[in-house]
Amino acid sequence: MATNKLHFLLIPLIGPGHSIPMIDMAKLLAKQSNVTVTIATTPLNITRYHATLTESIKSGLPVRFLELPFPAAEAGLPEGCESTDKIPSMDLVPNFLAAVDKLQQKLEERYETLNPRPICIISDKYMSWTGEFANNHHIPRIMFDGMSCFNELCCNNLYTSKVFEVCMTGLHDSQPFVVPGLPDRIEFTRNQLPPEFYPSSIDTSEFRQRARDSEVRAYGVVINSFEELEQEYVNEYKKLRRGKVWCIGPLSLCDSDNSPQSRRGNIASIDEQQCLNWLDSHKPDSVIYACFGSLVRINTPQLIELGLGLEASNHPFIWVIKSVHREKEVEEWLAESGFEERVKDREFIIRGWAPQVVILSHPSVGGFLTHCGWNSTLESVSAGVPMITWPQFSEQFINEKLVVQVLGIGVSVGADSVVHVGEEDRFGVKVKSETVTKAIEKAMDDGIEGNERRKRAKELGIIANNVIKEGGSSHLNLTLLIQDIMHHANNLS
Ligand code: UDP
Repeated sequence: MATNKLHFLLIPLIGPGHSIPMIDMAKLLAKQSNVTVTIATTPLNITRYHATLTESIKSGLPVRFLELPFPAAEAGLPEGCESTDKIPSMDLVPNFLAAVDKLQQKLEERYETLNPRPICIISDKYMSWTGEFANNHHIPRIMFDGMSCFNELCCNNLYTSKVFEVCMTGLHDSQPFVVPGLPDRIEFTRNQLPPEFYPSSIDTSEFRQRARDSEVRAYGVVINSFEELEQEYVNEYKKLRRGKVWCIGPLSLCDSDNSPQSRRGNIASIDEQQCLNWLDSHKPDSVIYACFGSLVRINTPQLIELGLGLEASNHPFIWVIKSVHREKEVEEWLAESGFEERVKDREFIIRGWAPQVVILSHPSVGGFLTHCGWNSTLESVSAGVPMITWPQFSEQFINEKLVVQVLGIGVSVGADSVVHVGEEDRFGVKVKSETVTKAIEKAMDDGIEGNERRKRAKELGIIANNVIKEGGSSHLNLTLLIQDIMHHANNLS
């Protein structure tokens, strides 16, 4: 690999929703002149993501992995538990977080081998030890949270105002309140908020508090979004962070030129061509794509309601069922209830990992039934596809608010509160099939409202594809980021 001068060290959190955009970012940075990129991650994650980098490396891009041994046994974890979506049971979450912290030592032991010395660390919000690491080595740490400025600002204002605590003074968790200091009137209930504000039964408060402390001290923040999507929120967030905020997304669009998009984050569980042929056989804007990301584990009765809702919508659909859902009872239901037989002419079920970006980019897809993870949300925006929003946990209700209320490109199924990961079985059916069907029908409707929504989504999709080109805002922000880091390094030397 060429030894270019500006060496960026990227340290993702080991989980698909956090690693996938950072791998995209690595490729994007490595394409800039005089930039070298190293991604520090663990062996199984290197195996998992290597395919997405192969073409780039072959074409001579200066990007590589640095392997950090994963301390599974030291942390009391089974072998192979090297990613947030591979944690077999929720009581192992504290062990997983302890293992993540131990990676600091592993990096320390290998740091001297990095040549040239990194000029900057870009690391995930939840790799909070990287703040101290960067300080020790006198280089700036830029935080990547994988979220929008809308989300960053909401969370910041929730932290500083503690407005959600009114709930503790006698009001209920489901009592709406307004988040102060935002450009729009945005309301939540406490039980829709991320675990920082509405904790799950697994205590991760210390881990999250450290992440918050190290976030506040970070030199700057890089955002997978684009200014035109949420300009007022970008402006406000920049004020908070002394201007050091760079929106360089959508990262999923960064390498459509040379790498099979179907390999993002995993090898797809189906033949991509077969899926494309199926999509080709349907009319433009007619297909619903239903996928809930990498971590959501909907309980079986709720999954059945979702299936029935898709069926009753009468639209053709692609439904991604993750292996964690593939309990015997789901397979039995699919086969024995007659569901698969009834919808066989208009379903394409993917058991496992879908080539999501490829699917969303197909002109037949007219609606994305999504859990509102930020990557999925932005991928939908980039493809100009309106969303049917069904948030589950973390920041997903915040993303829903942006999509439905601020941008006007989504229809909510009306989920009212979080179902934290691992707590799915505490709830039965929260959203009935009729409600799912109604939301799909509203999103796919070709009346005035539906057409307006579709038009806005398509317009945003066009803008998203332009901002990453020369002259676009994200393209410029990437240049400004690199210039800022160079300037910082020159001032130190
Ligand atoms: N993804 C995919 N195929 C799947 C499920 C997910 O390609 O079957 C990708 C998706 O395109 C996105 C990421 O995995 O880039 C999921 O990130 P998101 O933030 O949407 O959700 P999370 O998995 O973090 O909840």
